[in-house]
Amino acid sequence: MSPSTLPASVPLHCPGVAIIGGGPAGLMAAEAARAAGVEVDLFEAKASAGRKFLIAGRGGLNLTHGDPRPDFDRRYTLGARSVAGWLDAFDGPALRRWAAELGVRTFVGTSGRVFPEDLKAAPLLRSWIARLKADGVRFHMRHRWIGFDGEGRALVDMPGGTRHLEARAVVLALGGGSWPQLGSDGAWLPWLSARGVPTRPLDASNCGFERPWTDLFRTRFAGAPLKPVAALWTDADGVARSRQGECVVSEYGLEGSLLYAIGADLRAALQARGEAGLLLDLLPATPEAKVREALGRDRDGRSLSEVLRRRLRLEGAKAALLRECLPPATLGDPAALAAAIKRLPIGLGPPRPIAEAISTAGGIALEAVDDDLAIRALPGWYACGEMLDWDAPTGGYLLTACFASGRIAGRTAASRAATRP
Ligand SMILES: Cc1cc2nc3c(=O)[nH]c(=O)nc-3n(C[C@H](O)[C@H](O)[C@H](O)COP(=O)(O)OP(=O)(O)OC[C@H]3O[C@@H](n4cnc5c(N)ncnc54)[C@H](O)[C@@H]3O)c2cc1C
Repeated sequence: MSPSTLPASVPLHCPGVAIIGGGPAGLMAAEAARAAGVEVDLFEAKASAGRKFLIAGRGGLNLTHGDPRPDFDRRYTLGARSVAGWLDAFDGPALRRWAAELGVRTFVGTSGRVFPEDLKAAPLLRSWIARLKADGVRFHMRHRWIGFDGEGRALVDMPGGTRHLEARAVVLALGGGSWPQLGSDGAWLPWLSARGVPTRPLDASNCGFERPWTDLFRTRFAGAPLKPVAALWTDADGVARSRQGECVVSEYGLEGSLLYAIGADLRAALQARGEAGLLLDLLPATPEAKVREALGRDRDGRSLSEVLRRRLRLEGAKAALLRECLPPATLGDPAALAAAIKRLPIGLGPPRPIAEAISTAGGIALEAVDDDLAIRALPGWYACGEMLDWDAPTGGYLLTACFASGRIAGRTAASRAATRP
């Protein structure tokens, strides 16, 4: 039964702010609203809050990044200007101080990424939720917002039935669409579009790209890192770019932080031209002339593999990738091979499905909300976190923007709740 055909329901009354979604953005909104002195009810579809946050802890919980601003702001590949406004109120150092207040000390890793000292999410989440409860935030688990009824009232499915929500202000913090088994499934997108809220389809971000491998290469090298390598590509403005980093060969193609960092441009190129046009430099520290010289010298009876390994330290997955991607004629021509080692064309196919991605772009268009994160088309409703249409690579930028936007939405929703009957 669609929400609009549901029978009239009894109200679910919230005297202050209702937060829907118990991820990092929703929890931060709850904290900010409560700190402003209003009553806060938090509704979460799952049996517990912060499930994706806990999964992020499996990779060490990269909370934020040590980049100073404005370099930090520039890492947002979509929506950087809006995110910068949120960060003015709560940036990376503020996030670290906040974590310390919860008893979680953080450190800056060699890559500039910031982690809790114990690399875990659970202790932080536990003490945060305990503090929110002690401060009076009421948690309602297994309460799922299921859309609007015919009168435009928000309906909540909860143990015992469906009720319509009555609140002075509502903060939506429903996340994007990746890893739907953890709770954020993007189901809300058509409900908001139907109410006149500008939205964009969700797009997989921070995910791998498909590239069919031969059985031999996949069997031997799936899981093998390619590092260091440099990616050479053309960005959305047609500017030639390069970036050094690491990627990983996977069963289906390529993944890893280097691809996540440039994924927005690759997706745009795939959409515009049907191909990503990615080149990999397998020896970023070695000039092409040196590679050419090493390959042009007499081989002294050595095989190509031996020459690559001994003279250029090019072996394992990197060397196999050359055989995988290049025709025999190129492998047999030292100058052409040297050029290919420095600019190996990797024909990437589509990004992996949204469900597998670390995050999603798309969602509520940033022009749909004002600087206070109030949804223009829905007075009294606010939005924060990954459900807004911004994007960033991994590195702690995702969580930082979720926390920062949650803080703004919670604070401004509270000020509306305090002033409206
Ligand atoms: C494997 C993995 C690792 C990651 N690692 C990192 C990392 O190290 N650093 C980093 O910065 N980011 C990381 N991320 C991304 C980060 O976890 C997300 O960007 C962040 O959790 C988004 O926060 P959010 O509050 O907007 O949404 P979510 O965390 O998705 O929370 C949304 C909540 O809303 C609830 N909800 C959804 N629909 C409804 C509904 N209709 N009614 C009621 N409740 C609903 C969901 O159940 C969920 O609890 C990782 C993501 C994944 C998948």
